[in-house]
Amino acid sequence: MGTLSIVATPIGNLEDITLRALRTLRECDVIYAEDTRVIAKLLTRHELHKPLQRMDAATEGKKGEEVVARLAAGERVVFVSDAGTPGISDPGARLVAYVREHAPEAVIEAIPGPSAITALLSIAGIDATRFSFFGFLPHKKGRMTMLREVAASPLPVVLYESPHRILKLMEELAAALPACRVTVGRELTKMHEEVIAGSPSEISASLESRDAVRGEFVVIVEAI
Ligand code: SAM
Repeated sequence: MGTLSIVATPIGNLEDITLRALRTLRECDVIYAEDTRVIAKLLTRHELHKPLQRMDAATEGKKGEEVVARLAAGERVVFVSDAGTPGISDPGARLVAYVREHAPEAVIEAIPGPSAITALLSIAGIDATRFSFFGFLPHKKGRMTMLREVAASPLPVVLYESPHRILKLMEELAAALPACRVTVGRELTKMHEEVIAGSPSEISASLESRDAVRGEFVVIVEAI
């Protein structure tokens, strides 16, 4: 039986990859990637050339059988999502569950590395002994219910948000929890990395003062 390695990849800066991840990518037989173009950039940067197969959220359920056949043939299979840790608001969990069920003798190993959650928590200056992670809030149905859960949480809540909805999220937080403290991490590990902290309306004012709201955002909400 072969090995399935779930490999964390950079969330922006292509140097954020562990020695073990690079060795695993170098020594594997095949890499299944959420988007082969994204992983190709990382491989090129590190001068690695490997067979790539696409496995995104839509195909993850169907490709389990193919991966199990490879593992039965003794292959070393890697799965990577587009950025950060697979399975964290990303594909990966269904593949792992399928392999656990259908190839119980296969080794499934984690090659840990970056995640936007831990990147922001590590520089936010808040006590993250305990926190909740809500991922992306639903766009429509269920959004208000989740916002109420965020507002009622006794623990800091970490959220992902898109650039299109970040201002909307600040408006919603200003209404649901006007006194909360929000820490926003934008473009972490990238050239334009920034951390903005304040009330939801202060964050809105800062973002609205720019020409455009761009980039990737991770948000921590603390009720105060
Ligand atoms: N699996 C990833 C991880 O471990 O962080 C998360 C994948 S999720 C599809 C992508 C979201 O993570 C983005 O929309 C954004 O909210 C957040 N994110 C990813 N990279 C980021 C970065 N460099 N700076 C800020 N947020 C980031």
